[in-house]
Amino acid sequence: MGTTYNIKVVATIEQVETLQLQQKIDAVLKQVNQEMSTYIPDSEISRFNNLQSTESVEVSAGFARVLAESIRLGELSDGKLDITVGPLVNLWGFGPKQRPETVPNDDVLSSTRARVGLNNLHLDGNQLSKDILNLYIDLSTTAKGYGVDVVAELIEANGIANYLVEIGGEMRLKGFKHTGELWAIAIEKPILDPSGEQRAVHQVVIPKDNAVATSGDYRNYFEKDGQRFSHIIDPDTGKPINHNLVSVTVIYPSSMTADGLSTTLMVMGTEQGMKFAVENELAALFISKTEHGFTEKFTVKFKQYLK
Ligand code: ADP
Ligand code: MG
Repeated sequence: MGTTYNIKVVATIEQVETLQLQQKIDAVLKQVNQEMSTYIPDSEISRFNNLQSTESVEVSAGFARVLAESIRLGELSDGKLDITVGPLVNLWGFGPKQRPETVPNDDVLSSTRARVGLNNLHLDGNQLSKDILNLYIDLSTTAKGYGVDVVAELIEANGIANYLVEIGGEMRLKGFKHTGELWAIAIEKPILDPSGEQRAVHQVVIPKDNAVATSGDYRNYFEKDGQRFSHIIDPDTGKPINHNLVSVTVIYPSSMTADGLSTTLMVMGTEQGMKFAVENELAALFISKTEHGFTEKFTVKFKQYLK
């Protein structure tokens, strides 16, 4: 997934070695990559994206699980989360292809939009098919979170009850630190800085036995003529989002769902996102840019996690 991971377990070195945890974790992550990474030419997702047929194919249980949840969130959000949006992401310069850093013209935009839409994708159990040959699935909003979930499940299956798993910023934790305290997570201040060198803490949360996901467009963006272009696309316009919401944090039991929801709310913007979060009883924190700094809003459900 082109990222790093960080895992903490409360156990003795002997336990970790006897269980061969490192080897098991590497093996499951390798499998997730082989199923869902668009960076790997012969991964399951790449093979489906390149498939020149509308016939249905059988997909692995893991791939089907991520697809099913992504499609569910897509429908729940009226298409704001759309895993077929990849061609638009690439068109605007974010994706496995290099970044052109140019603004596409209207013709290219409309022909690319014609390739996008969840209605072109069909999942029935583990049978997957597409209506158009050049449909392109991109699971970058849920696959990292799924990776966190499978590692967390693996750790629990090995009898370890206290842990923290983080992959590329997606996190899930359970129980206590070795000190007996609950895990505390710092949510970053959304400083506009693509290098990621300037970092500061905005808020500390105690998520208990949950996952924490933050989606933000303050690091991954490009600037052209003074305008900032985000790597998050609004499927209703085909263009990068353009509002002053800079980051959304969601706390939810499943990391895959938290991951997908944080992006969904980011696409929606503060007003619509807040409404959706309240309706769906989500724990969500929205940080927006103002003239003088930042302002935050959170749902009632989020309040319990604030330190
Ligand atoms: P991060 O990659 O930092 O976790 P996000 O979770 O916010 O960031 O995911 C952003 C990625 O999701 C983009 O890089 C792009 O590949 C993809 N994406 C952008 N817009 C959408 C959308 N509307 N629906 C689904 N995926 C999207
Ligand atoms: Mg994410």
